[in-house]
Amino acid sequence: MTKKIDAKTAIITGGSRGIGRAICNELGRDGYYIIINYRSDDKAAAETLEILRNNKADGETCRFDISNSEDTKRALEDIIGRFSNIEVLVNNAGITADGLFIFMTEDEWDSVITTNLKGFYNVTRPILENMVKRKQGAVVSISSVSALMGHRGQANYSAAKAGLIGTSRAIASEVARLGIRVNVVAPGLIETDMLGDLPRDFIKGMIPMARVGKPEEVARVVRFLCSQDASYITGQVISVNGGMH
Ligand code: NDP
Repeated sequence: MTKKIDAKTAIITGGSRGIGRAICNELGRDGYYIIINYRSDDKAAAETLEILRNNKADGETCRFDISNSEDTKRALEDIIGRFSNIEVLVNNAGITADGLFIFMTEDEWDSVITTNLKGFYNVTRPILENMVKRKQGAVVSISSVSALMGHRGQANYSAAKAGLIGTSRAIASEVARLGIRVNVVAPGLIETDMLGDLPRDFIKGMIPMARVGKPEEVARVVRFLCSQDASYITGQVISVNGGMH
């Protein structure tokens, strides 16, 4: 049997771009071996790994679609088989398919729920089972201001992201006694590909701080929640949104 790798390990879903890439960097700086999950963009994932290595951190890329339970199961069995010290899981991968609810197709509803919420189940259940066996770990999931405010045109996304909050609070109470913490970060509008061509001047008007956030501003909060500095924090939602309420 091959010896397991005992480096402290963090899995970041959707780690190849945007907020996920910034989270990989922050946790890499904290000495984690980073498993960069992504769905399809090999080039972006390889770039994230290169950035990590240039910053004296290390990790590997891991392509699987979190919405596909078989694909995810296979990939995670391999990871759990190779790494003995998975300390952190960040559920960051997410998609949008916006539109007013009365015009929303079943496909738009299902794809967002399947990736953003079922994807959480597909990844978190086996990793949490592993953490429970070892009685340690931290899970952070990326929700959204949309879950708390209910943004127009995002009924599917608001439902999925609010679901992440409910399920995280429930799971936090199930595993708290084992020393495993489960928290949520709810970003506001952050400068990534996800914002697409939304007019920045218009959206700035919706934000009290009058600017969109940077991926690093979210990633630093995730890093804090994963660290021992947050050792008595579980079942919480921290908003990072420039004052949008
Ligand atoms: P991006 O669109 O920039 O990046 C999304 C990442 O998720 C990519 O790495 C992508 O991989 C990956 N991904 C998407 N679907 C899957 C899947 N099915 N399986 C595996 N990986 C997948 O998003 P952001 O960085 O902006 O967002 C990150 C998280 O933050 C999301 O959950 C989002 O909902 C949330 N958020 C973002 C906000 C913002 O303003 N940007 C605001 C509030 C919350 P690939 O490129 O290979 O497809």
